[in-house]
Amino acid sequence: MRILVVEDDISLNDQLRSALEDAGYVVDAANDGEEGHFLGDTEPYDCVILDIGLPVMDGISVLQRWREDGRAMPVLILTARDRWSDKVSGIDAGADDYVTKPFHVEEVLARVRALIRRAAGHASSEIRCGPLAIDTKSSKATVDGVALKLTSHEFRLLSYLAHHLDKVVSRTELVEHLYDQDFDRDSNTIEVFVGRLRKKLGHDLIETVRGLGYRMSSPEQADKKAV
Ligand code: CA
Repeated sequence: MRILVVEDDISLNDQLRSALEDAGYVVDAANDGEEGHFLGDTEPYDCVILDIGLPVMDGISVLQRWREDGRAMPVLILTARDRWSDKVSGIDAGADDYVTKPFHVEEVLARVRALIRRAAGHASSEIRCGPLAIDTKSSKATVDGVALKLTSHEFRLLSYLAHHLDKVVSRTELVEHLYDQDFDRDSNTIEVFVGRLRKKLGHDLIETVRGLGYRMSSPEQADKKAV
């Protein structure tokens, strides 16, 4: 999952970035509204953390422009404690949630997890797919109750497919959501990761859709196909 952090307070931006990276996300960061707007307009993000008080272009304008242009990614806004009106304008402009400064970074992480989950249509923090269970809170996966030993790349890939059950996910989409903008985008690496994941899963859960990409099917859909 790939996250954009738009925050002009450099130390806060760094703090969010490292906490998100520790939690297994790929993070791009911007320090002003114009750069933030550009990134959100051109790169696919699974969630954006957007400060309201930003230089060059304020957060509300950034958000309004994204929404006007049909950018639908979940957006969590950061507001100052004494500015209740920012929350109202932010939500009216299309924000999905807010956190008031000062905040505990754990709260931001929890809200980001919930936004990503809900955007993919999952209400619970555990995503199940047959024998596979993914705990989005602890970033752990189990098969038949046994913990899988996954690298952070493998977990990200598995988690992305599980968040998008029954959808064909292209290699390009995976590369865009699993790596930051500086990554050398060679989609062959995805095939290597998928191959390793399949071995570790020990179950035939990741399907190759020839010419299109990969798909993990929910048990209901898999049953339909088997009939
Ligand atoms: Ca600010």
